[in-house]
Amino acid sequence: MIRLLSTDFDGTLVSHFDKPPVVPAIFEILRELRKQGGLWAINTGRTLSHIVEGLEEFGFPIQPDFVLTTEREVFRRDPGGDGWEDFGDWNRRCFDAHEELFAIARPLLAEIVSYVEAGTEAEIIYEKERPIGLVGTSDEEMNRILAFVDAARARLPAFAYQQNTVYLRFCHSDYSKGAALGELGRLTNIPREEICAIGDHYNDIPMLDGRYARWTGCPDNSAQAVKETVRKSGGHVARGGFSQGVIEVIERLRE
Ligand SMILES: [Mg+2]
Repeated sequence: MIRLLSTDFDGTLVSHFDKPPVVPAIFEILRELRKQGGLWAINTGRTLSHIVEGLEEFGFPIQPDFVLTTEREVFRRDPGGDGWEDFGDWNRRCFDAHEELFAIARPLLAEIVSYVEAGTEAEIIYEKERPIGLVGTSDEEMNRILAFVDAARARLPAFAYQQNTVYLRFCHSDYSKGAALGELGRLTNIPREEICAIGDHYNDIPMLDGRYARWTGCPDNSAQAVKETVRKSGGHVARGGFSQGVIEVIERLRE
């Protein structure tokens, strides 16, 4: 029995290239899960406002119970309204850990910025003048940048990143979609054995390695490394892509 379902959004529930982008049957399945007492979290690299926009843009007729955003924050539905609120003190601790990290990582970040600006077409993403990530222009370029970042961060192991295609977000190594899901399991009192996670890209790997979710799966369009992680954790690599693949993973668990 799945009591907590954690799904990625872009590339997992939503296909940006297909029509319709989301197979409507998925909503019936999510409603069914809810009826049986299950909870549903969207676990995404998007920011809170960007995922709220996404749910609107793709016409989701139902809202998740939780949104886990920027690969690390945990929000629950505001019981009094339509908005979202911090769940527990995780987001505060997460914020503090990142403030501290970005302060000590300043020289490291300056090196990364110089490398990217001088040697690549990639664009650094800033938030309040702080470099928080970057967007590359090709897989080949991303691999070059990652080789540089990996070598540079060897001297500051707390400095890590989350990668989703050509997007990179710098983060503290203690925070990921997996860590956020683990905290949500703790806050909702749902053990790993009753948690299922489904995602398609590198930033999903921390929630698909079996540490936080006993049940894992990925759609057919997933990155090779994701499929390998799912197989290794005893999960299901679907034949269908995107939401069709999500349906397949959930249906299999209900058999
Ligand atoms: Mg994705």
